[in-house]
Order: sequence, then structure tokens, then C-alpha cells
Amino acid sequence: MNFNQLPLHERILKAVADSGYTKPTPIQAQAIPKVAKGADVIGIAQTGTGKTAAFTLPLLSKLVDKTEAKEERHTRILIIAPTRELVQQIHENIRGYAKYTNLRTGVIFGGIVDRGQIAKLNSGVDIIVATPGRLLDLVDRGHGNFQHVQTLVLDEADRMLDMGFIPDIRTVMKKLPKSKQTLFFSATMNTQIETLTKEFLNSPTLVEVEKRASAAETIDQQIYEVHQHQKTELLEHLLDSSHELYAVMVFARTKLGTEELVTALKMEGITAEAIHGDRSQGQRRRALDDFKTGKVRVLVATDVAARGIDVDSVTHVINYDFPEQSEDYIHRIGRTGRAGVKGVAITFVSPANQNALKKVEKLIGKTLPKKQAEGFKYDQAAEELRPEDRPRARKIAKKAGTNTGRNSEYQNKFANRKNNAQAKKRGPKKSAKRRRR
Ligand code: AMP
Repeated sequence: MNFNQLPLHERILKAVADSGYTKPTPIQAQAIPKVAKGADVIGIAQTGTGKTAAFTLPLLSKLVDKTEAKEERHTRILIIAPTRELVQQIHENIRGYAKYTNLRTGVIFGGIVDRGQIAKLNSGVDIIVATPGRLLDLVDRGHGNFQHVQTLVLDEADRMLDMGFIPDIRTVMKKLPKSKQTLFFSATMNTQIETLTKEFLNSPTLVEVEKRASAAETIDQQIYEVHQHQKTELLEHLLDSSHELYAVMVFARTKLGTEELVTALKMEGITAEAIHGDRSQGQRRRALDDFKTGKVRVLVATDVAARGIDVDSVTHVINYDFPEQSEDYIHRIGRTGRAGVKGVAITFVSPANQNALKKVEKLIGKTLPKKQAEGFKYDQAAEELRPEDRPRARKIAKKAGTNTGRNSEYQNKFANRKNNAQAKKRGPKKSAKRRRR
């Protein structure tokens, strides 16, 4: 099948040809005819499958047909997605696909001043792409008119559920016409999601491109068993030992952990940037741009901040901290191996993560292969001991002056470097003051 066989407007087809897409992805081939017909659709698809174009191309085609150059404009398509990055990405895609049309678009998300966004909303742009929080805030303050909305798109609905956005969406829904088309996309399907689809959609058609909760075939998934205290050292070792890891996304559990990891990598001369919820919109944008252009080799992110990030050529995803929810494993590794390109997903598994690993393996329906990093010095002593023997062994080792893994040479080295870096940051003034005291 090619794009010409799908019910798309010729000006949209021209833009698609400019994007270099030669044929529709499976979700596009299945969803485009249904969306074009006006049906409510549940799309179960991971990011990387081409799902954004699957809903934007037919929706834009319909608007082009119906839009006269000078007519009064109203918001007719409302797209809600969980994070600012995803909203910006969807918006950029739409700008590209709509470049031969006169359709107007606007974005709404938090973290920046709202003046421009309010002006856009009130001017009745044809398409709005928004995060739920800021949208609700503006709607509550009486901005925008959603009486003419024809299609509502809820993208990454599973993540919106995880992030507690569903009540906000319910409130926004009250402002929309009862009769409208609703498109609902989710990477995973479970009973909670199914309940939501019943609440939000009307006789929907299901479009599913991969097995439920399956990971893309193009990703080579590997497990590295390692003790917690050696994870940073192992990450540096992997980055040092292969040039193939040149666009690497690393996932850490906490904002602080993300920052600490970036500091540690920088100290080893590895270019790295962090993105997490406490960084400003500008900082996040810059970090992402530097990663996309190859200026920065490693992007360290938390789950929430990384959601929906679309960087074409992520060579490796490294789960430095094991994902808290099994589903997050699928979201994370979906950052690589996108649109048919091969990718590698490495997961660090510490003894404490073994049960969570079993859950992930059950979810994806396969046992993940275990690998050992060549040339890496694993702390064997701690590895071989049963957990109940470890405190005793540590005492003995302390007496003997040997290493059980707790206070590895590396940890000391790292602690020293961290102290030195902090002292440098404080600058000579403070240390001089301290000396005087
Ligand atoms: P998405 O799943 O929407 O995040 O899309 C993932 C990536 O696939 C994006 O970088 C798109 O530009 C790209 N893409 C979308 N549709 C196609 C297509 N038909 N052929 C090749 N790449 C595509």
C-alpha cells in the first residue's frame, strides 16, 4: 500500500512526500481510513510506530476540505497529550504536514508565561495541542471556545492515567460538544484503560498494531546484572568501551539521581545533559536539542520527562534504575529502534530488582538475555554471598582490610571527585571564610 491509496487530501500528501515517507506504517494503514470516516477509534500502539501521523493526517485532510480562506475560525480539533515535549512534538509534526494549507495551530503547556497561549486560544486557531493541566487552568479562567470542536484526541492515555490527569480531562470534556469524534491512543491496554474507553468513546473501533504490551521487534534487549554501587562505574565502562553508543538515553528514577549521574559522567569527560521536572522549559528544550544534534552524547531522564520524546536516532536506551512500573519498561525502550531502525536496550538489574524483572519478562512474554560487560571488574565478593551473610562478611572484610563491594575503590574515588567538584563550585571565597573562622 502507498499513501495515495488512503483518503488524504492532495496537499497533505505533498507534505508527506516531503517528509520522505515512502509507505504508511501498519497503524497508519489501519487507522487513517477509520479516522477519515469520522469513527471513534482506540489505537493501541507504542510511540515509534507512526501513530502521530495516523491521526493527524486524516484530521488535517478533513479540515483542509472544509476550510475557506476567509471564514471565521473556531477550534475544531483538540489534541491532549501528557507532557510538554510530546505536545511540542505533535505540534511540530502538524506544522510539517499542514505546510501547504492555511490551517492555524496553537500549543498550550505549563512552565512558560501564558499570555501568548491565551491569545492563540481566544483567536480560534483550528487545532490546539495541549497538556491537561495548563489547558484546564485556561479553560477555568474562561479562555477559549470549544463549542465547535469536532474531534478530540487523547494521546498516550495510559500515561495520562498514571499521571493523574483523568479528572482534568473529564472537566475539559464538559466544555466540548456531546456529539464529536474521539480518538484514544495508548501504548498499553489494561482493565483501567478499557473502562476509560467506555466512558469517553462511542461504539469505538479498535486498531491494534502490536501484541498488547509488546516491545518493538527492532530492539535488541539485554540485561546486565550489577550491584547498585557499581552501576555508575558500569555505565561509564560501557560508554568508554564502544563507539556504537553515541546517542544514548539513560533512565534514572529520581530528579536528584539524574543530576548526580550527569555530574559523574561529565567528570569522566562524557558529554551528558539531564531532563526532569525541576528543569525549566528552556533547559529541557536546550538539552533535547543538543542531544538531537549530537552535541551531547548522553541524555539522562526521568520517566515523566522522557515521555513521548521523539529523537530519531537513539542508538541505546540504558535503564540505569529499573523501572518502577513494568509498563514503563516498554515506554522507555521504545525511545530506540524507532520506525524500523535497530536499537539496543540495556537494563541494569541489581539483586533487589530480580522480582521486578520477572514481572517485566511476564509482561513482554519472553526471558531477557543476560550479558556481562567485557573487561569490567565486577565486585565478586558481595555477589556470591547470600544476603543474610553479607553484614558478617563485611565485618570480617573490614578487619582484614579487604573489599566486600560496599566501599569499593570506585566509590571512594567518586566521593573524592564529588567533594573536589563541590569545593570548586563553592569557590575560594567561602573556603577562605571557613579558614578564618
Ligand atoms: P510516532 O510513533 O508518531 O512517534 O512516530 C515515530 C517516528 O516515525 C517519527 O519520527 C515519524 O517522523 C516517523 N514516521 C511516521 N510515519 C512514517 C512513515 N510512514 N514512514 C517512515 N517514518 C515515519
